[in-house]
Amino acid sequence: MSGMSIAYYFPFRRIKIVHQSVAQDTRTTRIDISPDKRFLPVCSRCGHPSRRIHSHVQRRVRDLNLGSFRVWLECHYRKVVCMHCRRVVVEDLELFSPCQRVTKRLALYIHELCKMLTVKDVADHLGLDWKTVRRIDKHFLELQYGKTDTCGVRILAVDEIAIRKGHCYLTVVLDYERGRVIWVGKHRRAKTLSGFFNKMPNRDRKRLKAIVMDMWDPYIKAVQKKVPHVKIVFDLFHVVAQFSRVIDKVRRAEYRKASEENKSVFKGARYLLLRNRSNLRRIKDREHLRELLELNEVISTVMILRDKLKHIWSYKFRTWARKAIDEWCALARCTNHPAVQKFADTLDRYSYGILNHCDYPIHTGKLEGVNNKIKVIKRKAYGYHDLRYFSLKIIQAFTN
Ligand SMILES: [Zn+2]
Repeated sequence: MSGMSIAYYFPFRRIKIVHQSVAQDTRTTRIDISPDKRFLPVCSRCGHPSRRIHSHVQRRVRDLNLGSFRVWLECHYRKVVCMHCRRVVVEDLELFSPCQRVTKRLALYIHELCKMLTVKDVADHLGLDWKTVRRIDKHFLELQYGKTDTCGVRILAVDEIAIRKGHCYLTVVLDYERGRVIWVGKHRRAKTLSGFFNKMPNRDRKRLKAIVMDMWDPYIKAVQKKVPHVKIVFDLFHVVAQFSRVIDKVRRAEYRKASEENKSVFKGARYLLLRNRSNLRRIKDREHLRELLELNEVISTVMILRDKLKHIWSYKFRTWARKAIDEWCALARCTNHPAVQKFADTLDRYSYGILNHCDYPIHTGKLEGVNNKIKVIKRKAYGYHDLRYFSLKIIQAFTN
């Protein structure tokens, strides 16, 4: 193979290859490189050239594979005295960053692989430690998404995601109009969301118009304290989900009251009551539901209440929405069921956020995707060992 040179695989100006050896048994290649003396060494911090050599050093750095061979670079380089930085620094060889054990191009390759594969897969594929892989990917993610960008944001959606059993949550903030996740914080406390607003420059805060969220007091408190001019909108999906839990309470209470003979109608009804009626495709299910609603008046009323509740979000004018809320609360209070009456009080108390929906017809539906993708992201991030890394992976997944 005359004329064959591996130099083409190293298109870096400041280095030259001095030696190469191959170990067939371990399928590794060692390539010795040193600085090309035709160039003055430059400072890896500021890029200024320096003539004053301080010392000569050596380091082993992993590079991209050559075929099926793992490549180790034995790098000889210099430390120089940089007059600009006024200190001793490592010279810049373009090939690797100071303190890194892999070349820049291998690091970039790892980052690209981590977009598709799990950290563990990438580590196994390259024969590296999974912590090294995670650290490298995290470094790139910090560069791209580490800084919270709230420029031009007018509407926000906020939601929490449960990441572990036992009430471990993350707060996710989405730029509603552009559909991108802009921030992820630990827990779902007022302090969490306040932390996000604290990071926002004043001019961005002033530009904010509305925020859609769940009827969750800590978030409301943070908004009212940090951005009091912003209109809070409560999300239909969350409110209906909350009312579904009330329906379930009613079902259990009514089951306890029912006669032995009627108890059989309640069996398997939980799922029928919680699902949308239009989603009940099987005739058997629809018949079962009809039978239960005919049997029990309270359950029948709460199901009507659920349909009416959804309808409140369809009004475009505040007056009509207000009227619908009042009617709903009056009907709910007639049920004579404490859980339903309590919910009516809650809805009345938070009605301002439903009325705001007339001005800003927004919802957190876009954030639902986060919950669906979370398992995939968890797998890719190799669990939640590092919550910052996990958060950056979420932001990445909802930016591309
Ligand atoms: Zn310098």
